[in-house]
Amino acid sequence: MKKNSAFLSIALIVMIMAIFPSCNNSNKQMSNTNKVPAFDMSTIDSTVKPCVDFDGYVNGNWKKHNPIPSTEGSWGSFDILDKETREVKIKGIIKELLAAQNPKKGSDTQLIAGYVRSYMDTVTIAKRGITPIMPMVEKVNLVKTNGEMIALAGELAKINIGGPFDVGIGADDRNSTMNAIFMGQGGLSMRDRNYYENKDAAMVKIRAEFVAHVDKMFAAAEWKTANPGKTILDFETKLALIQLKNFELRDPVKIYNKIAFSELQKLAPAINWSDYYKNFGLPTDTVIVQDKNYLKKLDQLIKSTPVEVLKTYYSWQILSHFASQLPDQFNKETFHFFSTIMYGVKEQRPREERATMSVNRRLGMPLGKLFAAKYFPESSKKKIVEMIENVRAVYSERIDKLTWMSAPTKEKAKKKLSAFTWKIGYPDKWKDYSTIDIQPDKLIENSINITLWDHNDMLAKAGKPVDKSEWGMSPQTINAYNNPTNNEIVFPAAILQPPFFNPDADDAINYGAIIGVIGHEMTHGFDDQGAQYDGTGNLNNWWTPEDTKNFQALGKRLEDYFSAIEVTKGFNINGKLTLGENIADLGGLTLGYYALEKSLAGKEKPKPIDGFTYQQRFFLGWAQVWRDNMTNESLINQVQTNEHSPARWRINATLPLMKEFSDAFGCQGKSAVTDAQRIVIW
Ligand SMILES: [Zn+2]
Repeated sequence: MKKNSAFLSIALIVMIMAIFPSCNNSNKQMSNTNKVPAFDMSTIDSTVKPCVDFDGYVNGNWKKHNPIPSTEGSWGSFDILDKETREVKIKGIIKELLAAQNPKKGSDTQLIAGYVRSYMDTVTIAKRGITPIMPMVEKVNLVKTNGEMIALAGELAKINIGGPFDVGIGADDRNSTMNAIFMGQGGLSMRDRNYYENKDAAMVKIRAEFVAHVDKMFAAAEWKTANPGKTILDFETKLALIQLKNFELRDPVKIYNKIAFSELQKLAPAINWSDYYKNFGLPTDTVIVQDKNYLKKLDQLIKSTPVEVLKTYYSWQILSHFASQLPDQFNKETFHFFSTIMYGVKEQRPREERATMSVNRRLGMPLGKLFAAKYFPESSKKKIVEMIENVRAVYSERIDKLTWMSAPTKEKAKKKLSAFTWKIGYPDKWKDYSTIDIQPDKLIENSINITLWDHNDMLAKAGKPVDKSEWGMSPQTINAYNNPTNNEIVFPAAILQPPFFNPDADDAINYGAIIGVIGHEMTHGFDDQGAQYDGTGNLNNWWTPEDTKNFQALGKRLEDYFSAIEVTKGFNINGKLTLGENIADLGGLTLGYYALEKSLAGKEKPKPIDGFTYQQRFFLGWAQVWRDNMTNESLINQVQTNEHSPARWRINATLPLMKEFSDAFGCQGKSAVTDAQRIVIW
């Protein structure tokens, strides 16, 4: 997905899972389904006490026998299913496309096969060196003033070359049927402000490595700039320190500031917005900015920065953006910093695997169309719809029983709940990509052409109603999301595979896994962010002040509980940043649990399997989904930048809060969480 629109999507949609820098016939079954056991007993480490460390108990043996491969930063259910989906299913599709003779120009086959060929043609890539990016760099070199540089930045932003602000188009939060223009902060090579200001020794070391990395990249390009690494780090640090912190971006009211174009010019007069807009291709219209203060401070920063520094910064942005598609000296150095240093990944994946990942990212929808046709059985859809409706019914009953919410707010909550829509599997309609020019020996031009297609697709939305049928993830993505402006939950085809959904598993395991995920996404509609949107998808407060106060007090308890958890020496979970996800996990599990009970009402209760009651198996299903080994670097990255608590704590912190878990495993008096400390929100 394009960064300019991804910034919007990331601000708006909430997923089940952290993503690091990712017409069917009934006889088309997902492969391997029959071979996957519902729950594999050999993963259990019975020397660990389930009430003290449930992750260690359920997944202990699995963790011992599944070390992180040298090419990965984390290794768990999501990573494994993702790799399997790519390396078996996606690669299989690509192989067939590569075998096609003379595919029609612009057909899905020609686009995908052509892109993969250009990615694999390392001889041509080496021969061309950095010439494909030089037209852009030469434009930067010709710049004489800061104003000219900002104007050029508009042109570079079209092809995703980053800068201090990200502009994009998406649903207007206060008028969700119409599209609006958004502007947010951006332009940090290391993505998050924490990487520029955290004083922990591990972060100080990463900054030193960053300086060395930039220096090496400039040297490889034979660019003569003096001390580029220090120049870039200094500039980006100044930029980082005027930006909102990651958890502040979670407040949808705070980051919604609709202003006229003329006010933009007043807030930051040093930036020539007309030129930027013109080059980017946007109408000079009202814009929703994340933070007016940032624009004022940015104005000062741009004014006080010498043009040579801005030129070095933008040359770096171009070089770094394309580095993984340049010859080996650039590609390897970029891997060293952005994967080894930042995520603890030791070895680069084989080129063929990277080609699959790259085409899967760049042409995800044309590839997803083929994936869905081949691997998504219609029978799965029916089962999932049933499960969603079960969760919805249970949610409604639980709202009725809440003791902290008043009747008027309950009515409105139920109205929102009943208005929820869902998407499952793959989009109803596919876009036409046939105008993209893809050539088998021009990797960088191919990438630019795809990005420009995405850019034009986005620009076409300006001033138009929102297309509610559009998907924010490709069908082959192992994830799910809630889009508050559509009041919808979305489940791509690929997450409906074991261990998330196993048609052959007992209900208890499936309820703990996929129903936990469904409940999680539905609860996002009622987490600290989602609860501020109404049933029509508008940011519109429907709560009484008293109910808001009660809800926030419960949230504060959950925040403090998670903030107290140290995941690795010197790094705690950020309870504010992860609050929405933690509410969604706690709510999703509770809904899943009672949906299972409801499905069994009036029936004979299932007998224990492998010595576990059905209630216990529900929690095994959840723990199995979140088993995971992580490098220390990835763990630090996650708690510094990501809205999801690390997988281990989605098991070990969330489950003990539930009385249902405590009862299932007889944890009374054995767990660190007492009855008085339990938190029930939904
Ligand atoms: Zn989530």
